[in-house]
Amino acid sequence: MKIIVLIKQVPDTTDVQLDPKTGNLVREGIESIMNPDDRHAVEAAVGLKEMVPARVTAVSMGPAQAVDVLSEALGMGADEGVLLSDRAFAGADTWATSTTLGRAVEVIGDYAMVICGRQAIDGDTAQIGPQVADYLGLPHVSYVSAIESVETDAVVVRRRLEDGYERIRCRMPALLTVIGEVNVPRYPHVGRLIDACREKAPITFWNAADLGLKTAEVGLEGSLTHVVKTFAPKFRRRSEILEGDTRSVVSGLLDRLKENRLI
Ligand SMILES: Cc1cc2nc3c(=O)[nH]c(=O)nc-3n(C[C@H](O)[C@H](O)[C@H](O)COP(=O)(O)OP(=O)(O)OC[C@H]3O[C@@H](n4cnc5c(N)ncnc54)[C@H](O)[C@@H]3O)c2cc1C
Repeated sequence: MKIIVLIKQVPDTTDVQLDPKTGNLVREGIESIMNPDDRHAVEAAVGLKEMVPARVTAVSMGPAQAVDVLSEALGMGADEGVLLSDRAFAGADTWATSTTLGRAVEVIGDYAMVICGRQAIDGDTAQIGPQVADYLGLPHVSYVSAIESVETDAVVVRRRLEDGYERIRCRMPALLTVIGEVNVPRYPHVGRLIDACREKAPITFWNAADLGLKTAEVGLEGSLTHVVKTFAPKFRRRSEILEGDTRSVVSGLLDRLKENRLI
């Protein structure tokens, strides 16, 4: 069984700072890591290898340094990595990102399962998993909190809801997006990690032409949405002291809360 895991390299912070002049993310001095949910996705895939015979391919789209997250995935037990890197991929919105990742999965082919994290801590949209499933015409289950069993042509998973769980049997090939509850990711094995950083490591590099994609389909050109402006909301505190007897102060307070649609 072939399992493909999609992993993203992200800045190691949830406290995203914006440059007030340019509106761009401030990345200086911030280390890059594998997106936290994606470590759970890799663990889910290599964990499945212990249940059924499987081969795990980790795929990432990003600049050359994103190879580090593929090395980490190999260290955790993935069999091979594919880095999708091309200047033409820059500036992609989620549509263009999903097209590129979906096409890579299609080129790898013959897969039973695609596993993604639920959400990336920088982009934060949680759109990529469902959009890649749509691109590939696959059934998908999001918010997977446990992979219970794998049958010949189906996978049984538990899916977290706001106030409970669903057990879902989904035919394969399928795409799953996993949440942290699904497992505890293992640390990379030191020997495997060292091998993964050698020149002969099983990591392939693909650009747009390797995927058979035109530049008009990827990156900024292939994006259907464009960020016009990025800014942090400005907060302004206003205070007012209500004076008088208790009854009028309480009634004044209720009026203010109603006026501001807080009750
Ligand atoms: C309108 C718009 C314009 C944008 N413009 C730019 C831009 O100019 N430059 C820029 O850098 N970004 C840009 N982005 C952000 C970029 O589109 C997203 O980072 C990217 O599409 C992934 O979305 P996400 O981070 O929300 O991932 P999510 O949907 O939250 O991620 C879910 C899962 O999908 C998988 N995944 C996501 N991204 C990747 C990846 N790259 N490789 C492998 N797996 C992945 C992972 O498994 C991840 O856990 C833009 C986004 C929007 C909405």
